[in-house]
Amino acid sequence: MGLLIATPGVGQTERKVTKLADGVYEIEHQDAQDGFASGNSTVIIGNRQVLVVDSCFLPSAAREDIAQIRQWTGKPVSFLLNTHFHNDHNLGNQAYLNAFPALTIVAHVETKKDMDMFGPGSAAREERGVASLQKMADTGKFKDGRDLTAAEKTEVKNALAHRVPVMEELRKVKFQSATLTFDHDFSVDLGNREVRIKFLGKGNTAGDAVAYLPNEKIVIAGDLVVHPIPYIYDGYPVEWIQTLKNLADLDAETIVPGHGPVLHDKTYLFLLRDVLKSAVDQTNAYLKRTGPAMFRTLDEVKGAIDLTPFRQRFAGDDKDLATAFDDMAANLVKVVFEEASLR
Ligand SMILES: [Zn+2]
Repeated sequence: MGLLIATPGVGQTERKVTKLADGVYEIEHQDAQDGFASGNSTVIIGNRQVLVVDSCFLPSAAREDIAQIRQWTGKPVSFLLNTHFHNDHNLGNQAYLNAFPALTIVAHVETKKDMDMFGPGSAAREERGVASLQKMADTGKFKDGRDLTAAEKTEVKNALAHRVPVMEELRKVKFQSATLTFDHDFSVDLGNREVRIKFLGKGNTAGDAVAYLPNEKIVIAGDLVVHPIPYIYDGYPVEWIQTLKNLADLDAETIVPGHGPVLHDKTYLFLLRDVLKSAVDQTNAYLKRTGPAMFRTLDEVKGAIDLTPFRQRFAGDDKDLATAFDDMAANLVKVVFEEASLR
């Protein structure tokens, strides 16, 4: 694992557009230059209106998407759905609102709460990250006083070179939150194009929304599903398992993950469900033997849970993906243990 980059080996290096059906396009964005991931966007064009799912991380990337949408259709983007509050899916909101002033930005009620809490601080958080890198570059030392090696100095220098321009762009973002909330589900007819917006339960966040096109059998899943290695930094693993079952119950042939390429069957949904279930079941079995989580430490639980049988199924023979899988598995155990500690 690199010193500064969050998820090496799974970064998206090129923008890519995939046509899912007539008038339905998925856009995979290039990750920001500082290694910060950018979520996928999906464009759904009806006879009267357009609905976009997620506005991605950098406003400049959102503006590129908007220019492309205007080439695809003269209809306005009337709805923008934010699948969850993580800012790699919604910092482009302002760019969409500038381009389409009558836009309604939709999110689950819990997602809007979290967007209101964390969205406005996005640039300041990045600024602190850049400042600590700058300090490392200036002093040649880590926070704890340890000297940087020559290789680490180069890595810091490169990271700064990439982050400074991103920072300049982020400083100009005026965070735009959702303007309409829902708590369970609703449908919208864009003109000969039905879209059902659903909350299928908690998972990656407390307010994950999915968009489902029943006629085209397409579901846009947000970060409930990230391919090829899931993102698990926090969330609700026990409920996530059920939410994935609910997702798999939808009659869909095309699944758009929050990051990564489009999936054409449900195999990966079941794999994702199985790894979550295995982590939860193993944790519960261990706690049943040894007593409630409050008497245990994370290290003890880690030693008792083995997710390596899943490594090959997620990563194949790719070494970078295997490393990313191991990082994910360690996070997953931590999140499952934290959730068990709330009992
Ligand atoms: Zn994301």
